[in-house]
Amino acid sequence: MTQPTDQRMEYARVAVARGIDHAPDGLTYRVPDGLDPVTLGDCVTVPLGRGNSPVGGVIVALGGSELLDGKVRATSIKALMSVDRTTAPMPGIVVRLAQWISSYYCAPIGVTIASMTPTAVRKGIGRVHSQAVDLAPVQPAVKKLHPNRQAILERIARWPASERPVDVDALRDACTLATRAPILALVKSGHLTVVARSSVQAKWRATVLTAGSAPVLTPQQRAVVDSIDASRNSGFSQHLVHGVTGAGKTEVYLNLARNVLESGRSVLFLVPEISLTPQTGGRIAARFPSYPMAILHSGLTAAQRHEQWIVASRPGAKIVIGARSAVFAPVGDEELGLIIVDEEHDQSYKQDQAPRYNGRDVAIRRAQLAKCPIVMGSATPSMESWFNATTKGIATLHRLPDRAPGLRTPRVEIVDFRRESMLKKDRRVHLVGPTLETALRQCFDRAGQAVVLLNRRGYANWIACPDQGCGWNMRCDHCEAGMVVHHAAAGERLATFTRCHHCQTEQKVPIRCPRCAKSVVIFGLGTQRVEEELDRLFPDLSAHGRIARVDGDTMRHASEFHETLERFGRGDIRLLLGTQMIAKGLDFPNVQVVGVISADTALNLPDFRASERTFQLVSQVSGRCGRSDHAGRAIIQTFEPTAEPILAAARHDYVGFARAEISVRQRYGLPPSHRLTRIIVRHTHPNTAEQIAHDLHRAILALDGARDAVVRDPTPCAIARIADRWRFQIELLASTPAKMQSLLAAARSRELFHNGELIAVDVDPVALL
Ligand code: ADP
Ligand code: ZN
Ligand code: ZN
Repeated sequence: MTQPTDQRMEYARVAVARGIDHAPDGLTYRVPDGLDPVTLGDCVTVPLGRGNSPVGGVIVALGGSELLDGKVRATSIKALMSVDRTTAPMPGIVVRLAQWISSYYCAPIGVTIASMTPTAVRKGIGRVHSQAVDLAPVQPAVKKLHPNRQAILERIARWPASERPVDVDALRDACTLATRAPILALVKSGHLTVVARSSVQAKWRATVLTAGSAPVLTPQQRAVVDSIDASRNSGFSQHLVHGVTGAGKTEVYLNLARNVLESGRSVLFLVPEISLTPQTGGRIAARFPSYPMAILHSGLTAAQRHEQWIVASRPGAKIVIGARSAVFAPVGDEELGLIIVDEEHDQSYKQDQAPRYNGRDVAIRRAQLAKCPIVMGSATPSMESWFNATTKGIATLHRLPDRAPGLRTPRVEIVDFRRESMLKKDRRVHLVGPTLETALRQCFDRAGQAVVLLNRRGYANWIACPDQGCGWNMRCDHCEAGMVVHHAAAGERLATFTRCHHCQTEQKVPIRCPRCAKSVVIFGLGTQRVEEELDRLFPDLSAHGRIARVDGDTMRHASEFHETLERFGRGDIRLLLGTQMIAKGLDFPNVQVVGVISADTALNLPDFRASERTFQLVSQVSGRCGRSDHAGRAIIQTFEPTAEPILAAARHDYVGFARAEISVRQRYGLPPSHRLTRIIVRHTHPNTAEQIAHDLHRAILALDGARDAVVRDPTPCAIARIADRWRFQIELLASTPAKMQSLLAAARSRELFHNGELIAVDVDPVALL
């Protein structure tokens, strides 16, 4: 956004990094004479509160007296204290994105801005002064160089090519120099060039062992690339690529990205957090060795994150790849040429605390502001995106109905779990039924690899009294939820305890029922219990460490997950067992069998998206096999073998599933045909929570826009208490986003939501528990 230069910017509206409730759009300050000229997005320090304590913030608006809103007397306005010139200003589009998020998702601007910039950047952690250097391609003709400097050039020439360019400090140490001065002198004299390549990037590039050349696109892929490319120069356009798993969507993205980079513009590539593995990252990095690349994900240290942020903010064509919050990457306003959102249906794009934004939807908004195309892709598009493409005509639909050359469509077999359990003659409970067991054995005999999914952590989720008349089961003391049994390898012995998956409280496993003193029984599902069973079924694999479990308990850090996947890729691990972490994105050709222990975990959630989630899970995990000339088999165990989402996934029938699902949603006035907002009231006293919910409900009904919407009565949430706070919800439904937004704006202007501790507003929620 360019500011008129002739008009003096007397006032600045500043988003301070504090949860200020009464000024949702920011606080207004005077721009004092004598201060450096300020621009939108500048980081500034302002006085706050009675004590005028200095607080950091970002300028979100500049202007004249119109910023005063007539609310405050001009004389009482405090002045900005200073401008921070060491941090690059936020690009104008990112500031406008912040304002849009703040208004659309009902979050104070300060909280919004604070959540958009990594903490490391805001606090200047690991502010990187280090630079990497390399020999200049053309050495200047100098008669005689000082021997010390000659030695530096020779040292760098001996440096392993894979580790060049060389970090200035590393070079200084290697040459045992006291300062960097001689190196910098060589930069000045033209012998060395400074290369903007960071350590993170170097590591990811090194991950690609045999990058291989880009495959020739199939006619289908080519048609999609050409069609999206054709709209590249006509401003904003929205595209949905529906391609089956293994269709080669990534190849489509990479071809589009290449064209954009070659035209001198940058690409923003969003992926779900969990798919940002060295495998995918390396594949992208290998394709564009000559362009800078910034990688933003949770596995980075604070300093690395800061470094990547700086790479993203440097001018010039580059590729920025990252999870949800990378949508805020500081790529310059005129520079963005394309946004890609892979696996657009993924729930991890939604942030579960304020601002509760959806990264995919923010990306659409960013593409609109940047006037560039956005390409969203998935094998199982969200109902929202499908509706936009097929019914509303907002997005152009592109289809890749066939798998890429060399891949085969997996055969999906549904197994009735009730019948399976009968087949085993012993009296033990088996989570791996005979069909899956046989398939796994055959797979390992052929030296194949397998993936087994159960979307539930822990050992077992049900600790109860065997006496039905007593009916006791172990609940969390702080939540309305059952405790889950976990085993942990504590030193030598195996410790068993129970944990609540909502507040993380832990307790001992009781031996006797506290009501009637009978011995308790433990049953239900969990990945640890499946692991125990697989260890028993395949003792040889287990003894050689060839079975690995991947879930939130074993993978505490992204690097552990990445390392496990690398071992799976090398074939050291033969069987990968885990939660939905392993359900998507993985592309390993030797996976011949996929097993789903229970497809029912998602099916029975009290959420209108239960069918959609089940369809996605079964389709995505099945898609992990058949990625070579081995016929892949996916075995889906379920207690509900006739459930439509499971049948549709087995038929590979996304279109049929989506048509039926959307018509159900339309009938009940649910998303995507309507917009939903969920308001949650949380309080330590159940009666108070309920009372506040009823008062809020009444206040909303009295608002102007309430007649244009459905305002449902307050009800207890599906999980009625979490961490000692009782929860009530009010659902709002409106037929258009505009109606929803005007109702929310009215509520906000009455300050109905101002207490963020007490009231959480979730616009377009993706989970309803
Ligand atoms: P998706 O993202 O749609 O699941 P990928 O892009 O990961 O699919 O492609 C699946 C596999 O097929 C990858 O190993 C990829 O290298 C390969 N592939 C994609 N397109 C082609 C092509 N045109 N020719 C040969 N192999 C391809
Ligand atoms: Zn709890
Ligand atoms: Zn009992």
